[in-house]
Amino acid sequence: MDRNDSRRTAPKELSADQVERQRCFAAQVAQMHQSAGRTGENAPGCFIQTFGCQQNEADSEQMAGLASMMGYRITADAASAKLILVNTCAIREHAEKKALSVIGQFKHYKDADPEVIIGVGGCMVTQQHRADQLKHSYPYVSFIFDTGSIHTLPELLCAALQGGKRHFHIPHAEDIAEGLPIHRETSHKAWLSVMYGCNNFCSYCIVPYTRGRERSRMPDAILAQAKELIASGAKDITLLGQNVNSYGKDLGGGENFASLLRDIAALDGDFRLRFMTSHPKDVSPELIAVMSENEKIVRHFHLPVQSGSDGILKRMNRRYTAEKYLQTVTALRKAMPDISLTSDIIVGFPGETDADFEATMDMLRAAQYDMVFSFIYSPRKGTPAAEMPDQIPHEVSTERFARLLELQNAVSLARNNRFVGRTVRVLAEEVSRTDETKITGRGDSPRPIHFSGTPDLIGDFVNVKITSADTFSLNAEIAGEA
Ligand code: SF4
Repeated sequence: MDRNDSRRTAPKELSADQVERQRCFAAQVAQMHQSAGRTGENAPGCFIQTFGCQQNEADSEQMAGLASMMGYRITADAASAKLILVNTCAIREHAEKKALSVIGQFKHYKDADPEVIIGVGGCMVTQQHRADQLKHSYPYVSFIFDTGSIHTLPELLCAALQGGKRHFHIPHAEDIAEGLPIHRETSHKAWLSVMYGCNNFCSYCIVPYTRGRERSRMPDAILAQAKELIASGAKDITLLGQNVNSYGKDLGGGENFASLLRDIAALDGDFRLRFMTSHPKDVSPELIAVMSENEKIVRHFHLPVQSGSDGILKRMNRRYTAEKYLQTVTALRKAMPDISLTSDIIVGFPGETDADFEATMDMLRAAQYDMVFSFIYSPRKGTPAAEMPDQIPHEVSTERFARLLELQNAVSLARNNRFVGRTVRVLAEEVSRTDETKITGRGDSPRPIHFSGTPDLIGDFVNVKITSADTFSLNAEIAGEA
């Protein structure tokens, strides 16, 4: 994979022949189930286990859409499924080990019913050593498919159902598959991918190797899907990309993320827009202006900083300094004083000294995040950082991690307290997972808000008055229709 071909012509969408080919395989699979009477209540179940990020959740919705098109019913019960798909993550060693252990557990379903078909997708299988491991050590896995070949699921399944050879080829495909069917678990929240891949090659990150080069979807395709989502009742739409704010750079027609966001926000309907993930070096004044001018765009910005030390940022190949990063924070807060900022931080990056770590603690004090996703550095095979000297001993990283959490939890609680006494417009999302008499919703901030209410509120906007704040959530009472 050539890391230098960052400038490309407009992305190659699947050809009509490629689409038709998969449509034929899908029809064959559906026909197989029909002719065997496996329809309606007897339709075979498809269970999808998803690991990792929002992009993987969106990809799993495409897998579920394809499975439904082939006559499967989506089930949350792996034991009753005839098709089991595992959508893996490779962001940290731990994520891969978890996926492999779960795949191992699925062996007894295959032992119990040889008709069960197990397929593995996602970032982990794009790595040759993992693909080989699945081929040789997991003989009950029928096929793998990488992040760029979800659209080949009909062909892979058709071959497996006909007792064909197991499939372990990794095409590293980078075509964009437009128009794939999508099966969503909820109607009121939706993922909307605007681009795939990443050209940044942060030295610790596996994503550019597992998801390929940046390729943006055409704006018309995105706007058409946004209209469909709004028409189908989506109230909270998240625009997805590994680095959304470099959207359009590969299209060569002047498209950019700020103009895309403006165009989607201009669509009719009562909905709100979120987006993730942004790279600090690509946050433009135009993007900040579009956000501040559009009420539909939530006052939340996820801006991964990773470290507060310029030395470590350089070793990470992040291409900004702590000072430049804080200038962006200041610009965001100037335009939207009450914006919720969240971030990602890596503790224990190779070469991190006590002074480097203190610089990260200073960043937390300066940036005042509502929430931080923090991780202890995990070497990823094939990334430059994994080969770097001065790997930090685990006990040192763990001690630093604990101190960082303690500081950030205090900041988060203080930030959450600013909401107490305010009335906030939230989307009622689900029954609270800890108290079934409560509903959990979200305002602009990704912070969950719990309030007494009935399930019929789910999917509606509700005004709630914040009564108290905790470190990780807010409590409220209904204040009337929104
Ligand atoms: S910008 Fe994000 S996805 Fe891209 S290489 Fe860096 S950390 Fe990975």
